[in-house]
Amino acid sequence: MKPHVSDFERGRRIVLILVVFAVIFGLSALMFTQENSKEQMYLVLAAFGCVIGVIVVARFLCVCPHCGKRIVSGVLVLKVCPKCKHSLITGAKVKNKR
Ligand SMILES: [Zn+2]
Repeated sequence: MKPHVSDFERGRRIVLILVVFAVIFGLSALMFTQENSKEQMYLVLAAFGCVIGVIVVARFLCVCPHCGKRIVSGVLVLKVCPKCKHSLITGAKVKNKR
C-alpha cells in the first residue's frame, strides 16, 4: 500500500502556504510600496486572492476523512476530529487517554 495522505492533510498544507503568501503580499503592500500606488493595489489584490484561496481550499479539502465533518476553525492545529475523535491525518481511531 502506498503511504496515505488524506485530503485533510493536503488541504492543510495548501492552506498553510496560502496563508504565508497572503501575509507576505500584505506586508509587502504595507512596507515596500508607495501609498495608493499601482504596485500596492496589485499586492493587496494578490493577498486577497490568497485569502479567497484559503477559504475555497478549506471548504473542499479540510474535512474529516472519517465522518466528513468540515473543520473550519483550528485547521492548522487540530489533529483529531472534534466530532468522531478519529485522526484527521490517517482517519484512524484515536484512543482517549482518560
Ligand atoms: Zn470525524
